[in-house]
Amino acid sequence: MAVKYSAPTAPFALPPELIELKEHAKNIVERECIPLEAKFLSNKWLGEGVKDGATEGQVDGSLPAEDWAHLKKVSQDAGLYAIGLPEEYGGGGYGALGEVVVAEQLNRSVVKLPRSNAMLPLMRGTDAQKEEFLLPSIRGEKRFCFAQSEPGAGSDPGNSMRTTAKPDGDGWRINGEKMWISGVEAADYLLVLAVTDPEKRQRGGMTMFIVDRNAEGISTSPIETWLVRKGHQHHVWFDDVYVPAGRVLGEVGYGFGLGQEWLAIQDRLTRGSLACGRLARGLEIATEWAKSRETFGAPLSERQAIQWMLVDVFMDLKSIRAISYETAARYDAGEEVRHLAAMTKFMGGNWGHRSMDKIMQVLGGIGETLETPISTFYRELRHGRIGGGTDEIQRILMARALFKQGKSVWEA
Ligand SMILES: Cc1cc2nc3c(=O)[nH]c(=O)nc-3n(C[C@H](O)[C@H](O)[C@H](O)COP(=O)(O)OP(=O)(O)OC[C@H]3O[C@@H](n4cnc5c(N)ncnc54)[C@H](O)[C@@H]3O)c2cc1C
Repeated sequence: MAVKYSAPTAPFALPPELIELKEHAKNIVERECIPLEAKFLSNKWLGEGVKDGATEGQVDGSLPAEDWAHLKKVSQDAGLYAIGLPEEYGGGGYGALGEVVVAEQLNRSVVKLPRSNAMLPLMRGTDAQKEEFLLPSIRGEKRFCFAQSEPGAGSDPGNSMRTTAKPDGDGWRINGEKMWISGVEAADYLLVLAVTDPEKRQRGGMTMFIVDRNAEGISTSPIETWLVRKGHQHHVWFDDVYVPAGRVLGEVGYGFGLGQEWLAIQDRLTRGSLACGRLARGLEIATEWAKSRETFGAPLSERQAIQWMLVDVFMDLKSIRAISYETAARYDAGEEVRHLAAMTKFMGGNWGHRSMDKIMQVLGGIGETLETPISTFYRELRHGRIGGGTDEIQRILMARALFKQGKSVWEA
């Protein structure tokens, strides 16, 4: 039928090169990751020390180090390792939207194909910093973690952060305590936010530093959570840790904004594709299960109560995907998207979790076992309502946009 408008260029219609990329990632997940799931899930080990290269105390499972090394090579050879990062630094050049499209596919499996953890603030550094820190992290040689939260500063780091950095000779001395820091065990460096001007705080008084994980004066202690019993989240104490001046990222006093950009794009936005991948796989498992499981003489798939739960999941999945694509495409186009990243985070975490809860309900007891990835997905998505900023904080960020930016945010 002829219509009187030109073909939409809006992000809900993926361009052909991203559809191709999606298929490419999907095939790799089917070939390399899903076949390893049973091995991953059966490797539950809660003892002391490190076994087969796995982090201590994995609740759900892990793989021997040689499998992870193989998967990392697969990811690099397939061009997926740093797919969204700029080509000039050795990335795939597909931007945030490419990242989201690929991440959804990778998130269909509990065995996550390894990816570069090159962090956005490193792209805002000097050429020398890019050479020393960014490029090795894109190649997978160096790992970083993000250290903002503290025992008394989670939702409101701008006002509550206590960690300080004071000038000392050519550099700085950091003192304080960070909490919840993910990935410390594997990191070479921490991106640490510290108060450098207590009067200005988040408005010109917080600075981001690249801190060597093994610098003198750093000590750590693992935190047990229901995600990983020990060894992935840590307390980190800084006792007069010296940081040379060349390790300040961006301008002195303007680190808070770097952290907020990282949180919006490399944390909050990614919670959307996490939810989409997990829900898509969950729907595959749950619809198959509902067709084959009979109670009272009929398959579950014929019961309206079951159908409606799965339809609710379908609606959540499509909605989370749409907002994820829109946020990513607008970011790639240079727009300010913090409120949309907050929406993606809220929907990915909150709606993702409520939908995974329904998938678990449809599976009955099997959903609670570690024989399928569902219980892992459930915990990860529940964590998505807290980590990276809670549901309430995402609502606060969206409310600010509503009242400060007005109708431009909902008409766009
Ligand atoms: C597993 C895990 C991994 C993490 N990884 C990292 C990491 O790598 N790096 C890092 O820096 N941080 C990390 N965090 C910290 C995380 O970002 C914080 O836990 C989160 O921001 C919440 O802070 P909080 O725990 O201090 O809760 P609080 O700030 O104490 O909040 C408690 C409750 O009060 C609510 N609340 C707070 N203020 C308001 C308000 N104004 N109105 C209504 N409700 C409000 C919150 O939403 C929450 O429900 C991680 C946390 C976890 C659990």
